[in-house]
Amino acid sequence: MSERWDVVVVGSVNADLVVGVDRRPAPGETVLGSDLVVHPGGKGANQAVAAARLGGRAGIVGRVGDDGHGDLLRGALAADGVDLAHLATTPGVPTGVALITIGPDGDNSIIVSPGANARLGPADVEAARAMIAGASVVSFQLEVPLPAVEAAARAAAEAGGRVVLNLSPPAPVPGELLALCDPLVVNEHEAAFLLDGAGDAGELAAALAGSGPRSVVVTLGADGVVVADGEGVTGIPSPKADAVDTTGAGDAFTAALCLRLARGDALRDAARYAARVGAAAVRKPGAQSSYPTPDELPEP
Ligand code: ATP
Repeated sequence: MSERWDVVVVGSVNADLVVGVDRRPAPGETVLGSDLVVHPGGKGANQAVAAARLGGRAGIVGRVGDDGHGDLLRGALAADGVDLAHLATTPGVPTGVALITIGPDGDNSIIVSPGANARLGPADVEAARAMIAGASVVSFQLEVPLPAVEAAARAAAEAGGRVVLNLSPPAPVPGELLALCDPLVVNEHEAAFLLDGAGDAGELAAALAGSGPRSVVVTLGADGVVVADGEGVTGIPSPKADAVDTTGAGDAFTAALCLRLARGDALRDAARYAARVGAAAVRKPGAQSSYPTPDELPEP
C-alpha cells in the first residue's frame, strides 16, 4: 500500500524575529528595544507542527534557505515529527523571516520577508506529488506563491484528497481554486476582504458559501466560529481562555480542523474540536511554543 499522511501542509516556513519596544521609530529615527527573541514560525510550519503535536501524521512542502534560520526551523519541525522529505533548501537565498515589534500594549507590527518561501513553485509540487496524493487533507495558506498553491490543490483534488485553504494573508484567488475548498477558512477581516463588505459573521459565512467554496469556516477569536455548508449556518462557541498571546491561534485552529477532517469527523464536529485547540493556543506565549498535545485541551 502507498504511504499515507493525515495532513500535508503546502506553505511557508519563517523565523519570527521579535523585539519589544516602548514606541516605534519615526522615519530616520533609531530606538532601543528589548533582547531579540527568535521563534520558529510561518503559517505553513505552524500548521504542520500543530497537527503533528495533536498526534497526526503531518508533512510539509516548503522551502528554506541554507542559513542558520533554515537549520533552526528544520530542527523545530523535526522535533515534532513532521515529515521533511519535501522541505527543500534554496542555496544563496535567505530563509523567510517575520520582523515583529511588540509595543507596550502587546500590539504587533509585522514585516514579512518571504525569502526562500517565494521560490516555492509548481516544480516543487511535482516533486512532492506522491506525498500530496497520499494525504487525506492538504492544507494551504497564502504566504507562498499562488501558482504553487494552485498546482498543489489540483494535485490533491485529482488524488481524492480534501483541500483546506486559509485565506491568509488575504488576496484575490481564482474561482477554480475556491471551488476546491472544503472548507475555506477565514477570519472576519479576510471574509470582509473577499466579499468587499462587512456584515455579521453568519451573513458573511453564508455569503461566502454561496460564492464558490464547498464549505466555509469563519473564525471569530474568543467568540468561536461560524460554519456554513449545504446543511446551513451554525455558530460554535470557543471554550473560555485567559488569553496571554493569540499569535498563531488561527494556524492551530486550522491544523486541528484538518486533522479531525482527515480522521473522518463531520465539519461541525471538527470545528468544535479545533475551537478547543485554538483556545489552548492563546494560553501561552508564541505560536508553536503554545500548541497543545491532546491531553492539554480545555473542555468544550
Ligand atoms: P491569528 O491570525 O492571530 O493566528 P486568526 O485571526 O486567524 O488568528 P482567530 O479567529 O483569532 O484566528 O482564532 C482562531 C480560533 O482560536 C477561534 O475561532 C477560537 O476558537 C480560538 N481563539 C482565538 N482567540 C481566543 C480567545 N481569546 N479565547 C478563546 N479562544 C480563542
